Amino acid sequence: MIKVNGFGANSKEDQLHALEFQRREVGPSDVKIDILYCGVCHSDIHMARSEWGPAIYPIVPGHEIIGRVTEVGNAVTKFKVGDLAGVGVFVDSCRKCKSCTSGLEQYCDEGMTPTYNGYYRDGMTPTFGGYSSTYIIDEGYTLHLPFTKNLEGVAPLLCAGITTYSPLKYAGVSKGHKVAVLGLGGLGHMAVKFAASFGAEVTMLSTSPSKEADAKRLGAHHFVLTTDKNQLKGLKMQFDFILNTVAAVHDMNQYLDLLKVDGKMLVVGIPPEDNRFNAASIISKRRSIVGSMIGGIKETQEMLDYCAANDIYSDVEVIPMDYINTAYERVIKSDVKYRFVIDMKTLKA
Ligand code: NAP
Ligand code: ZN
Ligand code: ZN
Repeated sequence: MIKVNGFGANSKEDQLHALEFQRREVGPSDVKIDILYCGVCHSDIHMARSEWGPAIYPIVPGHEIIGRVTEVGNAVTKFKVGDLAGVGVFVDSCRKCKSCTSGLEQYCDEGMTPTYNGYYRDGMTPTFGGYSSTYIIDEGYTLHLPFTKNLEGVAPLLCAGITTYSPLKYAGVSKGHKVAVLGLGGLGHMAVKFAASFGAEVTMLSTSPSKEADAKRLGAHHFVLTTDKNQLKGLKMQFDFILNTVAAVHDMNQYLDLLKVDGKMLVVGIPPEDNRFNAASIISKRRSIVGSMIGGIKETQEMLDYCAANDIYSDVEVIPMDYINTAYERVIKSDVKYRFVIDMKTLKA
């Protein structure tokens, strides 16, 4: 086993702090990555605090990981030492089921192996995330990063990027569609960029008046303050799609009403408790509510290649590792512009 330094928590009440843990030795098909940057996803907070059910402690969060390959196993063919490499939300899956063999590993019948807060396929070795110096991962679950600049803005693509790219692609969003993005945080800001890049007319639905100028700079054509009921009233039956990124419990009815006949709410936010919606809000206009979870390896690579070709990056605030507890509080207050990214150089050895 290899000793690794990281930052994590020992219980749901614990603040994150420096801790040491172990990773496996580099196996034949593994790459070893020295982590440069790791994004801070709201899921990290949900899990560190056991908001989605009991987490596995100690927990070392982080699933928006980029770094440099420093070692490869003797059977590795896709990476070499010195390459940039990325790790997203999962690091393995059963590799046999219909989902796995069709590039939808995130929906694996047996469950994907999460990058942290889970167990490897042996069912007993815990996974630890990217708030750490090093990751060791099978090359088949590792992403190529065709970027030469702004690497801190690349890290969030591994979760916030693919989680918004995938449902917009699956829905076929393109020119002529009216798309609303609900919640301007880490996922929301990437959703605005992608929806605008795919040619849609984009409306930002936000609870934060201070974010209007940024929303427009990110590519939104319109900004609506959802706390102003009059503004919402004028938007009834306007949108083909609403991408819902909200991390807190909320009433979906007022947003469902904004969808056209056959409109779809694409849900990616995962609040700790159930949202409410009234059946009438969907049946009255044959609307649907569609869920989506990250994306498979093939599609994540496609998204990264698309971002590199179209100069799409996350807008980030780079932080030192020991700022993480403050960063968590700011994310919860919706005070994030628009993703915190940890500079892993600041993780003291
Ligand atoms: P985030 O940065 O905190 O953004 C969420 C945004 O939602 C906030 O910035 C805020 O934007 C808005 N918001 C917060 N509370 C709200 C409320 N009560 N009502 C309406 N809007 C509210 O979080 P994130 O990292 O983007 O993640 C968003 C959610 O997606 C989390 O639950 C996360 O766990 C989940 N997630 C899901 C997947 C997946 O595969 N499906 C992947 C990653 C993350 P405004 O200030 O603009 O209102
Ligand atoms: Zn995430
Ligand atoms: Zn599978």
